[in-house]
Parts: sequence; structure tokens; C-alpha cells
Amino acid sequence: MRASQFFISTLKDAPADAEIVSHKLMMRAGMIKKLSAGIYNYMPMGLRVIRKIENIIREEMNRAGAIELSMPVVQPAELWQETGRFDKMGEEMLRIKDRHGRDFVLQPTSEEVITDIVRQELRSYRQLPKNLYQIQTKFRDERRPRFGIMRGREFTMKDAYSFHASFEDLQREYQNMYQTYSRIFTRLGLEFRAVSADTGAIGGTGSHEFHVIAETGEDALAYNPDSEYAANVELAEALAPSISRPAPTAELTKVHTPGAKTIEQLADFFKISPAQTLKSVIVDGEDGVPVLLLLRGDHELNEVKASKLAGVFSPLRFATPATIRDAFGAEPGSLGPIGFKGKVYVDRSAAVMADFVIGANESDYHYTGANFGRDFAEPEVADIRNVVAGDPAPDGKGTLAICRGIEVGHIFQLRTRYSAAMGAKFIGEDGKEQVMEMGCYGVGVTRIMGAAIEQNFDDKGIIWPTAIAPFALVICPMGWSRSEEVRNTAQKLYTELQAAGIDVILDDRDERPGVMFADWELIGVPHRVVIGDRGLKEGVLEYQGRRDTAATKLPLAEIADYLR
Ligand code: ATP
Ligand code: MG
Ligand code: MG
Ligand code: MG
Repeated sequence: MRASQFFISTLKDAPADAEIVSHKLMMRAGMIKKLSAGIYNYMPMGLRVIRKIENIIREEMNRAGAIELSMPVVQPAELWQETGRFDKMGEEMLRIKDRHGRDFVLQPTSEEVITDIVRQELRSYRQLPKNLYQIQTKFRDERRPRFGIMRGREFTMKDAYSFHASFEDLQREYQNMYQTYSRIFTRLGLEFRAVSADTGAIGGTGSHEFHVIAETGEDALAYNPDSEYAANVELAEALAPSISRPAPTAELTKVHTPGAKTIEQLADFFKISPAQTLKSVIVDGEDGVPVLLLLRGDHELNEVKASKLAGVFSPLRFATPATIRDAFGAEPGSLGPIGFKGKVYVDRSAAVMADFVIGANESDYHYTGANFGRDFAEPEVADIRNVVAGDPAPDGKGTLAICRGIEVGHIFQLRTRYSAAMGAKFIGEDGKEQVMEMGCYGVGVTRIMGAAIEQNFDDKGIIWPTAIAPFALVICPMGWSRSEEVRNTAQKLYTELQAAGIDVILDDRDERPGVMFADWELIGVPHRVVIGDRGLKEGVLEYQGRRDTAATKLPLAEIADYLR
């Protein structure tokens, strides 16, 4: 590629809405361009990175025996109704109607469609197992799209789905995918950690997340440096022992709140932020004891968390508004925590926040000034607390360390959740019909691009791992239009390196050296060769790796070998 023919659009300053390094640098390097909140154009420079990430994933998935296909972005609602997810998915799933008024969704994931294909195509144990994957656009109407393409609304995911005749075979493929993911992230040149995201018992293998280690990661990871134990902190917290409590900070005041039931209505009524309200959700406990989960205002996040926690204390079940209505004959939130006799699971990260609004066990009344530690502590509380470094590891083999991570991959053993709902069955060796076992395996392709930058940058710009750099090498000729010798040498080297299969760009823009260097350092090309008249007189070129502090002089004749 010649720079004069390519599309380079670097910026001096990042836009004001870019909060973290990767977002700022991607915008400044002209990799992506914002179209709308969470919706980005992948510009030519950025698309080269995305394609390289995709190709590594594709090669490793193929090597692992998975088969590529592609499913439509626009999917009919009927399939999503079969599994109940058309209603359950909530606002994160974007829905549209066609001209006949029929409902469709933009795929946030594709379990339904793949299961529909498989139930039609695979009918015998002889056709199993199969692992089918796609690298496809996803749409999730994220409540808070941010960090550029790291939490976009439109993004690219590699999603794979495997189908099996037995649970043992699903477990085998799960291990295969676990190893494949480890190979993928190693080849991408990233420092990563696989953590248990299993809501079952410790040491369960039902679900793992792969995280790129980075300070700016949205997830906290707890791991035991002396053992295999690693989990996301939400899970580690759920398994951790009890807590110390903050002192009361305010008195409760009962307030008549006609009509204010939802978090939003309450926040509006009290003129506070939704984050200051508490929502109580009741779930069935073991031996029929009702359990109260207290949710902070950031409702979506905490419902997710609550559902995970409920899963941890299996057989607890996460209560949806409908299950609360069924089980307790009450509206969610109307059974306030005061005076409630049951086990209470408390999230200490909320306990330090005071002056909340909570329900008062009475229709149309709420309390203000609630304090977690004072008002919700019961003698027999099984608490959930924030795990900190140095805490005893749940596996009993030492203490925990904590780091932050960006979730770039997630693998699950789905078992028969979708295959049973949709009737994906096969005829077994014994001639009997059985429901298929199923696994699913996701990688955030576009998120990886941001995560890689969070791990690899300096004050000049991005430092791409060579495997996913938009160009592996840039040739910078000093005085392109002025010196014929420089021009000829640069062109010759460019042709030679191209022929050797090196992904090289020749900067023939005739810019000043300072401008050229600043651009390529910002864009993050890992290798640079500078050709100038002075060096040519001595028969040398200058090579500098993106992390090197100084250039190395190399004989002209050796450079091609050196770079190969
Ligand atoms: P998160 O916890 O970050 O919201 P998730 O758990 O909802 O992610 P999964 O359903 O596990 O995501 O999807 C598989 C992968 O897709 C994730 O591991 C992540 O890398 C990627 N991904 C999910 N949501 C987004 C998004 N909004 N933007 C970019 N990538 C995403
Ligand atoms: Mg999500
Ligand atoms: Mg997640
Ligand atoms: Mg996930």
C-alpha cells in the first residue's frame, strides 16, 4: 500500500466524549468515526485491524473443527417467541416491524436461529457433534454505550454454537473451545486471563469469561496466584464470607408517594438520581425461605447481578416481576425490606452509600434516609461483600489478588435450554429420540481492537501487536520528491518486502519527517524503516521498532532479511 493512495485521517485532539485511552487514540488515529451513540464507521485503517483479528479467530476456529456460516442480522420474532426471549430480552434487543406489521429483531446473539437450522438439518446421532460459527454484526441497544467500539450498540462478534448427543461430548468440546480461545488471545498478542463465570458451585466449568487485563476494564477479577482459582469478582463476592458494617447515617422518614412505583417514578418523585433508590426483589430461598435481594438504582446492572447471585445460591431463582406477583401476590418493590423476616443478601458496595429511598411495606408509602448497614442487617444474614486483595481464596489455598479486565470472550455450556424449548432432537444410537446438548462461545471482535490498545500504548499513540497492526511496517523516505536515490531505494525495498509477504506501507506523501513520524507513531505501526540521503552514502538504513528509544543502522543489503 502507498500512503498517498490510502486513507489517512489523523487528528491532533480527541473528541470530548472519549473517556479512555483506546477510544481517544482510535479516534485520533482515524480508525473509527462516530455516526451515532454506540454506532461507528470502521474507517479503512481500523478495518484492516478488524480483518486481521477476524482472520486469526477464523483460522483457529477452523483448526478446532468448527464450521463457518452466516445468519441474518434481521431475524423474525417468531423464533424468539419460541424460547420466550422475545419478551425476556427487554430493551437491549432492538425490534422493528416490516411493511406488513410483522415483528423482527436485530440479532443481539443467535441461539434461536442456529437452533432452528439444526433442528431441521441434523436428525441423527451420526450427524453430531457439530460446531457452527459466524463472524457477524450484532446489535444491542446498550443502556450506556461508551468507550467507542468497546461497548458499542452495533458491533462484530464471533459466535459459535455446538450441538451434541451427550453431556460428556459437550464437555469435551467446551474444553476444546477453552483451549482454542487461549490460542486466539495468545496469537493476538494480548495479556489475558480466563475466569470462572459459573453461577454454580466453585470449580464449576459451566461458563468462563476471557478477559484482557487492563486498568480501565469494567470488570474486577479475583484470582489466586498460587492456584488455578480465578473468577469475576461478582462471583467471588457471592462466595465470600461475612462483612463489617458502616454506622447509621440518617433517620428513616415515611413519605406518602402516590403512584410512584418504578425506580424512575420514585427518582422523579423525590427529585433524586435513580441510583439512590433501592429496589427489593424477593426470590425463593432454599427450603422455601423467601430471600430478599436488594438492588441499587442502576437497575439493569443489578438485575443482572441479582440473577447471577440467585444462581449462585442455587436453587434460588431470580424473581422477575411476574414471578414475584405469582409467588407473593404482590407487586415487585411493594414488599419493602422493613420488618421482613428472611435471609438478606447485601451488596456492600451499596452499603457505603446512604440516604436511599426504599419501599415501606405499605402501598404508596416509601421511606427516605435508608441505610444498608443499619436497616437491612439481620443477625443471620448471609452477606455478599466486596472482595479485596488479600482475602482468603474461596478454594482455601491462599489469598486472592485482584485485577481489572475487559471481557473479550465468553463460553457457556447451555445444556438443553434452547434445544428443549425449540425441539432440537436427534435419533440416538438406541433408536430413541433425545434432546441435543448445546454450548455457545462468543468473542467480541471489535471490542478486542479497543482492548488491545488499552494494553499497548504510550504518549505518542498506539503500539499494535504485529499480528493485528493495520500495517506491520512503514517505509519513511526522507525527501521523496527531492532525492531520486531515496525514492528509488524506497520503492525497491517496498516491492521486495511486499513480495516477501510483509504487510508494508510506503509513505510517499512527501510530508516533513516530523509529520510522518507523528502519524505513524499515533497509528501504531510496530516497525519503521527510514531512508535518507545521508544514510545511503554510508550504505545504511535506519530501523526503529515502535517501542525502541533509538534507531538502529542497518546495511542496505541486510534490511530485507532483518525484517523477514
Ligand atoms: P458485557 O458484560 O460487556 O455487557 P456480555 O456478557 O453482555 O458483555 P456476551 O453476551 O457474553 O456479552 O457476548 C460475547 C462477547 O461479545 C463479550 O464477551 C464481549 O466481548 C462482546 N460484547 C458484548 N457486548 C458488546 C458491546 N456492546 N460492544 C462490543 N462488544 C460486546
Ligand atoms: Mg452485556
Ligand atoms: Mg458480561
Ligand atoms: Mg458475557
